[in-house]
Amino acid sequence: MDAVLVILETADGTRGIGTADPSPGYSRQTSQEIWDALSDVILPRFLEVQPETPCEGAAVLESVQGHENARCAVEMAFLDLCGHVNDKSVASFFGGTSRKRERLNAWIGVDTPQSMAENARVWRDRGFASLKLKLDGNPERDIERVRTVVGAVGSQMQVRADVNGAYDSKTAIDVARELEDTELVHLEQPVPQDDLDGLEAVTKSTSTTIMADECLLTLDHVRKVLDRGAADRLKLKPLRLGGLLQANDALEMAADAGIDCVVGHGFGLTPATSAELLLTTSHENVFRPVESVGLLKMADQPFESTYSYSDGMVQLAEAPGLGVSVSDNHLSEFSETRLTIP
Ligand SMILES: [Mg+2]
Repeated sequence: MDAVLVILETADGTRGIGTADPSPGYSRQTSQEIWDALSDVILPRFLEVQPETPCEGAAVLESVQGHENARCAVEMAFLDLCGHVNDKSVASFFGGTSRKRERLNAWIGVDTPQSMAENARVWRDRGFASLKLKLDGNPERDIERVRTVVGAVGSQMQVRADVNGAYDSKTAIDVARELEDTELVHLEQPVPQDDLDGLEAVTKSTSTTIMADECLLTLDHVRKVLDRGAADRLKLKPLRLGGLLQANDALEMAADAGIDCVVGHGFGLTPATSAELLLTTSHENVFRPVESVGLLKMADQPFESTYSYSDGMVQLAEAPGLGVSVSDNHLSEFSETRLTIP
């Protein structure tokens, strides 16, 4: 996959790293757009201001309109750098972790109900305690998919389902009501992202837990969904919100409203995964297991991390910054374009 790596380096050689890893066809920015925003706008401004604290860094990034993915990469690198300079974990900027382990959520793409159930058993046998089903917007088929998978593994696994906005609100209400008697833990973004009225109507028409995802583009959207009670649960993606501190603020806003949140990404590389795990382990209102599952999808990447992974569980280590380093020799096998801004 194409991704953009930002390395911020001080005069004494201390480094911070951050990645923007957009999902093709899903993220709102491409790698090329992220690159252009970083090289033309964000990094020149950031280096001109020379912020020294996470707050100062956030203020510079907030002065940039749009370019959320690119801002997230710079913020991640800057928090990592601040962590290394002060010998602190990035988690300290989110209030500090209360736990050292985090379970990951499995996922199953759209398929026949029987194949999805088969796949669910495979994840269960690998030690996973939860999974997310992707649905495709065919209501009868989707209901059958959920029922079949819950029937196969529901007594041992938490089952979630994601519609990615594929129903109109009337269909979404019908499906959500139909699923009320299953053990489904939530139905994610059942209506299109710009239909907040529809989302609220679905949430208020059913006892099935409804989670908002694609409609949460900024903190303003998060606030609006919380104020209206338009969803029972939120999915927060630091890359989409424009940074980890934004996601941290969103988690705090949700906590004040008594709402829990799933945190995750599509194809996060190790720096993004580590950053998200340091964020989730710092908050009580994170709905677990988390969806920061990039590490399960990558065959190889030029990073070394201090955390370890087995049986659906990540064990975090005490380490400064993100606890991740970039392997320079290995990086040359991956990097196609480099730009240094002095
Ligand atoms: Mg989703």
